[in-house]
Amino acid sequence: MDTQLKLLGRSDAPTALEPIKHLKASVDPSTLHHRQLLDGAFWQKIPAYRLIDEATFLDHSWQAKNTITNPQKLLSAVQHLVPQSFYDDVAEGFRRAPMSIRVSPYLLSLIDWSDAYNDPLRRQFVPVASRLLPDHPKLTLDSLHEQADAPVPGLTHRYPDKALFLALDTCPVYCRFCTRSYAVGVDTDEVEKVSLKATEDRWDRAFRYISERPELEDIVVSGGDSYQLKARQITLIGTRLLELPNVRRIRFATKGPAVMPMKLLTDHEWVDALTGVVERGRKLHKEVVLHTHFNHPNEITAITKRALDAVFERGIITRNQSVLQRGVNDSIATMQLLTKRLGHCQVQPYYVYVHDLVKGVEDLRTTLQTALDIEKAVRGITAGFHTPTFVVDAPGGGGKRVAHSFEHYDRTTGISVYAAPSVKPGFFLYFDPIDTLDPEVAERWRSPAEQGRMIHAAIEAAGAAQAASARASSVR
Ligand code: SF4
Repeated sequence: MDTQLKLLGRSDAPTALEPIKHLKASVDPSTLHHRQLLDGAFWQKIPAYRLIDEATFLDHSWQAKNTITNPQKLLSAVQHLVPQSFYDDVAEGFRRAPMSIRVSPYLLSLIDWSDAYNDPLRRQFVPVASRLLPDHPKLTLDSLHEQADAPVPGLTHRYPDKALFLALDTCPVYCRFCTRSYAVGVDTDEVEKVSLKATEDRWDRAFRYISERPELEDIVVSGGDSYQLKARQITLIGTRLLELPNVRRIRFATKGPAVMPMKLLTDHEWVDALTGVVERGRKLHKEVVLHTHFNHPNEITAITKRALDAVFERGIITRNQSVLQRGVNDSIATMQLLTKRLGHCQVQPYYVYVHDLVKGVEDLRTTLQTALDIEKAVRGITAGFHTPTFVVDAPGGGGKRVAHSFEHYDRTTGISVYAAPSVKPGFFLYFDPIDTLDPEVAERWRSPAEQGRMIHAAIEAAGAAQAASARASSVR
């Protein structure tokens, strides 16, 4: 005790008024860009919304009613901001796209139409024919084999304890790059969709299957998009799932907050329904959360912050899943800013997906190496629980694999090989976009025989790497 008292009374101990010696240089607040959110009537720069006041723009029904669903509507909204040649390019882009068009006025207002070809939001939602690239020869429409792993229509049971419940097939936006372009949206010239309508008969079969599988604990409610479910449907699905003793966790997945955040401010019935399910879950000691999908920091405005603050005040946890996309977020600075901006809005960045092999969007895919390089730079800028894990959703149904956990990655042929021992036996292959490879290698991909040789060599190398690692490992 004497020693402690002596220590407390040390003459060299700092007093409260003494200046604090900083070990790091102080940060200029103006450089904290993640806190600087677009505010004001930014939508009024779009000719069609010049006279739209804030109350109207924040009304989710007005947003839904004025959503752009074809190139002609796009033309009448944006008018002189882009030349006729751009519209012609868009019209042809849509004719060749596997997804139909659906862009909210909010999203449309965030696009810089003076640089439409390069704008990161335009690239995600509005196809232009002149920038399309041929699909990879190994691409299939349902590349993740969601239908093959579905015991009942719209319920994919791949991981031991988790199922993906596709409650409906519509969304508040249609993304060019949708992995589920086999089902989501209306038929296009390119794709006749699998129907996953929001019918209670179909849902009943899904609930029955979940109830018959005691190992299922975690249900993702997606689609389509949970934003499109009516308030009573949110309550019905949430209640039916929470009633099942085996279900411990529910995630409602929606891109809505990224494309129409005002719904969280003005659709009180929907937010109340979600809050009701979350609170009911909490009383049952079950977790119910919101999973959303922001890809670029420009998608987060002052409206988004207010909307997400409102959700946070209701005690609802929100996590984010992004897709890594060329020309959208494939730079260290953009992904760091997105990560920090999500954190600023109390959204936990959960995953960044290396872009799936999806029809008609080869121009958006990056190499695996890009993901590895960006992840290295993102890790360390903020707390670990606010740092996304970069994953490859292994084509063929291997599920999500941490991007750098490949068994083998041949950067020359662009083939990476993954194993998923707890999900499915065998190897799962991911392919870098061909236009990023050396021209001689790109030429080899034109020949089916050469494709076979490159794939065979990659699998052999993966097998050898796995055998060497097993010999060295002490884990059994
Ligand atoms: S919101 Fe999701 S499900 Fe809908 S089109 Fe976009 S990626 Fe697909």
